[in-house]
Amino acid sequence: MIDLRSDTVTTPDEAMREAAATAEVGDDVYGEDPTVNELEARVADRLGTEAALYVPTGTMANQIAARVHTEQGQEVVADRQSHVVKYELGGLAQHSGLQVRMLDTDRGVPAPEQVATAIVDEDLHRPGTGLLCLENTHNARGGLAIDPGKIDAAATAAHERDVPVHLDGARLFNAATALDVPVTELTAPVDSVMCSLSKGLGAPVGSMLAGSESFIDHARRTRKLFGGGMRQAGIIAGPALEALENVPVLETDHENARLLAEGLDDVDGFEVQEPETNIVLVDVSGTGLEPPAVLESLRDRDVLATPFGPTTIRFCTHRDIAREDVERALERIEAAVA
Ligand SMILES: *Cc1c(COP(=O)(O)O)cnc(C)c1O
Repeated sequence: MIDLRSDTVTTPDEAMREAAATAEVGDDVYGEDPTVNELEARVADRLGTEAALYVPTGTMANQIAARVHTEQGQEVVADRQSHVVKYELGGLAQHSGLQVRMLDTDRGVPAPEQVATAIVDEDLHRPGTGLLCLENTHNARGGLAIDPGKIDAAATAAHERDVPVHLDGARLFNAATALDVPVTELTAPVDSVMCSLSKGLGAPVGSMLAGSESFIDHARRTRKLFGGGMRQAGIIAGPALEALENVPVLETDHENARLLAEGLDDVDGFEVQEPETNIVLVDVSGTGLEPPAVLESLRDRDVLATPFGPTTIRFCTHRDIAREDVERALERIEAAVA
């Protein structure tokens, strides 16, 4: 099976299994797990923040961030296609009583003028804006890498109105790799950032939430409130530390995505969005088939991809996919659609 559904399907390698087996552990709720403490310190250092917090999932990290930055009843400004809006079960409303003001944006990042007009001051009728949420890379737009200037401009527009900014950087290291900029250039303009360890980096479990010391203190309490206080979490933080070493591999994933896209472009009826990172979106309407039918015939030939809208399917490259896998996948996909 060639599994191109997501970069979350990677399985831990020998080094990660060894790290799990040998990790020094303690009770992390008491702050006594040395492996978790090392992971949090190392990620804060990488991201250029004062502190960081290990959380079970990216979704929890985003939801904690929203809770910490806001007060119940406020608005969150976000791109309409962003993960917090589309794929987190309305958690902003469910967990924190927030209303989302969705923006239609270019490349998934609001322009400063859009941010300025979207922000509302609190008065007798309006709840006030509590947070701007940005995303990089932008998943639903096909893994677009948003350049630091755009992040900075949007964040500045929010800060000018005293609104804090959270960056959903599930694939932040993919963005930094594609743009060839230090990851700190992408994090510097924002107040908090989430990055996943369990996607392209390949850790079995976990994401990081990073920000100021006081933000992370509050986030630690909120993680407990949300049921995310873990005990001997060094068992999973050990492999996560190994995963941090995999940043250079992301470049290979991006090359493989480009190779995949070039090949898919030759398939009759496929319209391919040129990839910027490790995600390839394909509009399959030209085949006369709907995504489920295309995916079923791919599955018959042992290739997996993901439905991604009424006419679109998504392929995602990752560290368990080699160049040869891409070549084999392309042969099978051509045969499947022919
Ligand atoms: C995957 C993803 C998340 C959520 O991460 P989980 O660990 O799956 O909860 C959040 N934001 C973006 C952009 C993602 O791609």
